[in-house]
Amino acid sequence: METIDRGLFVPPDSTPYVDSPMPIGYNATISAPHMHAACLELLADHLQPGMSALDVGSGTGYLTACFAMMVGPEGHAVGVEHIPELVDFSTNNIRSSAASSFLNEGSLSLHVADGRLGWPQLAPYDAIHVGAAAPEIPQPLIDQLKPGGRLVIPVGTVFQDLQVVDKNLDGSVNVRTETSVRYVPLTSKAAQLHNN
Ligand code: SAH
Repeated sequence: METIDRGLFVPPDSTPYVDSPMPIGYNATISAPHMHAACLELLADHLQPGMSALDVGSGTGYLTACFAMMVGPEGHAVGVEHIPELVDFSTNNIRSSAASSFLNEGSLSLHVADGRLGWPQLAPYDAIHVGAAAPEIPQPLIDQLKPGGRLVIPVGTVFQDLQVVDKNLDGSVNVRTETSVRYVPLTSKAAQLHNN
C-alpha cells in the first residue's frame, strides 16, 4: 500500500489519506484504507509472486493495483467492474501509479462485466476479493477458486459479515466470519444507478 499512492485513486476534491471510505460517483465508494489493508492481509498468502487474483467490484482500481504489485509480472491481477466509467477511471488511476507497467505488460487487466459471474477467462484464482456486499456467496466465484485458494467477500444486506472462504484440496469449502462490515451492494448495474 505504501507503493500505491491512494491520492492518485480518489476524485480531486477528496481527502485521500483519511481512514474512511469516500464517494467515487455512481453510488460507489473507495473502501477505507484499513479495509484495504485488512483484505490484503487476509489474502497475503494467496497473493505471492506468480499467483492469480481476481478483484470483483474493482471501483477505483486501488486494490487491483496492490494485487498486481504483490503477484508481480509473472502473476495475474484481474479487476471486474460493471460501471464502464469506473473502469476508465481505474485504468487512468493505475496508469499514473507504480502499477502502470503491469497494465502495459498485461499482468494486470480490467474488464467491464457483472462480477457476480467472476471472470472465467482467467480462472482459476488463488485469491478472490469482492468489494461489494452480496446477499449470498455467488457460486461462480467459488467455482473459480483454485483448490487451496481463498475468497474474501462481504455477505449480507443491512448487517454484513466479511466472510473468508477457503477451498480445500478436495474441492470442499470452509467458511468463517472475520468481522462485521458495511459495503455498497453487489447488485445489477440498473439497481445500483437507480439509487441516484
Ligand atoms: N474495492 C473498490 C470498491 C469500490 S465500491 C475500491 O476500493 O475502489 C464497490 C464497487 O462494486 C463499485 O464500484 C460498484 O460499481 C461495483 N459493483 C457492484 N455490483 C457489481 C457487479 N454486479 N459487478 C461488478 N461490479 C459491481
